[in-house]
Amino acid sequence: MRIDIATLFPEMCEAVLGESIIGRARRAGAIELHCHQIREYTQDKHRRVDDTPYGGGMGMVMQCEPIYNCYNAICGQIGVRPHTIYMSPKGRILDQQKSVELSKRENILIICGHYEGVDQRVLDKIVDEEISIGDYVLTGGELPAMVLVDSVARMCRGVLSDDECFMDESIYSGLLEYPHYTRPEVWEGERVPEVLLSGHHKNIQTWRTEQSIALTREKRPDLYEKYMEKEN
Ligand code: SAM
Repeated sequence: MRIDIATLFPEMCEAVLGESIIGRARRAGAIELHCHQIREYTQDKHRRVDDTPYGGGMGMVMQCEPIYNCYNAICGQIGVRPHTIYMSPKGRILDQQKSVELSKRENILIICGHYEGVDQRVLDKIVDEEISIGDYVLTGGELPAMVLVDSVARMCRGVLSDDECFMDESIYSGLLEYPHYTRPEVWEGERVPEVLLSGHHKNIQTWRTEQSIALTREKRPDLYEKYMEKEN
């Protein structure tokens, strides 16, 4: 899978997405990620990419042309039109289902807004969908883009060591994940649940499923209800 990010702060994205599991996956060729500086695509001699809003009001609006030129350059590089996402608090809120769906695509392009946002005309022309990472407003689309890339990329083949790594996890399975424990066996007087030391795989699996169901019922009754509907 190839992911492109169009941003005014590519170094911000590179700093985060060059590290840890995603960075390793990029170096191993499991995913391809390119961060593009939108400012490189302005024709303005002062390299401006924003202007004041028509109709008045606070803040600056990112102009159409640099984003459109950047988009066209990326389309040219890939040779196809990528599925194009604008990170926006007005978008559909990101969930695991959306991340799974996006992880099956060959190409996605993520546009990061800044300041007051982006001129609507270029969004209408190139964007397939708007995605929000939650009902709060951030200063720019870079953190939301990184959240999206992380959640999508970790489901691409070869990024995590084993498919089980995400299939078992909270939300993906429809339930919250069971609790984890590691060495030492006793810490501050607290023992690891006995069943996990038993080596009895079936009992461990049963305990984990029960824990998942109980945790989901307690912490996320909305998910629990959906899970019970599916089970019955
Ligand atoms: N004026 C815009 C509004 O009220 O909808 C908010 C602009 S925000 C300050 C600047 C940029 O940050 C947005 O263009 C968007 O790309 C990004 N952004 C902010 N909050 C976000 C969120 N919850 N999810 C995704 N992107 C967000």
